[in-house]
Amino acid sequence: MSLDIIVFPCLSDNYGFLLHCTETGQTACVDTPDAAEISKQVEARGWGLDYILNTHHHPDHTGGNKALKRKYGAQVIGPKAEQDRIPQLDTALSEGETFTLGNCLAQIWDTPAHTAGHISYYFQDDSAIFVGDTLFALGCGRLFEGTPAQMWAAMARYKALPHETQVYCAHEYTLSNARFAETIETDNSALHDYIKTAKAKRADNLPTVPTTIGAEISANPFMRTDQNGVASAVDMVGAPPSDILGEVRRRKDNF
Ligand SMILES: [Zn+2]
Repeated sequence: MSLDIIVFPCLSDNYGFLLHCTETGQTACVDTPDAAEISKQVEARGWGLDYILNTHHHPDHTGGNKALKRKYGAQVIGPKAEQDRIPQLDTALSEGETFTLGNCLAQIWDTPAHTAGHISYYFQDDSAIFVGDTLFALGCGRLFEGTPAQMWAAMARYKALPHETQVYCAHEYTLSNARFAETIETDNSALHDYIKTAKAKRADNLPTVPTTIGAEISANPFMRTDQNGVASAVDMVGAPPSDILGEVRRRKDNF
């Protein structure tokens, strides 16, 4: 594989990501939570910054676009459905289109729900997907601009990926998500194991990101609303998974 991926914390609980094609030397960041920290990480490696890949328009994902574009001449790539809300956007992409970093190809997935035009970047050959604020370790994004049905459609699509796929979510919310997940599936042993590992990582100040599709399928309640355990926990056995996701999300919002 020719894609190097660097994960580093930014702001209070965001993650920054650098992507580097080892064959061509091209480099991108995913979202721009903190221009100064991203610059520091780029320069520590002697890299440039060719692209900024935005997942959605929120300021903690696009706030550094202007400064990083000015400093490095980076091209800004972002979701077509949010093109008027992404600062300094150069290229708008949507479902079915692709982006290439050197020799590394990403498929663009429309994954609206957290925001109306949110996109994910799936690097199939490198077994990595950048999901922004749609999917989190043991959680999912808040439904600011979309519906439970849209979020379930995104979850169902992520679930169909190979289990070893590395999932890069944009925040360290895992232990707080874990406290809620435990109230939904009290007897899911995979969830208990997951939480144990996550607690150990956080105790050592290590990120719990990336996670994997397989780990989320086994433990994330928002990916499991088609399972009896989650349905019965919210008294909705037999209801569509999207409706159950809506109820689980509502409970999390009030948790
Ligand atoms: Zn967001």
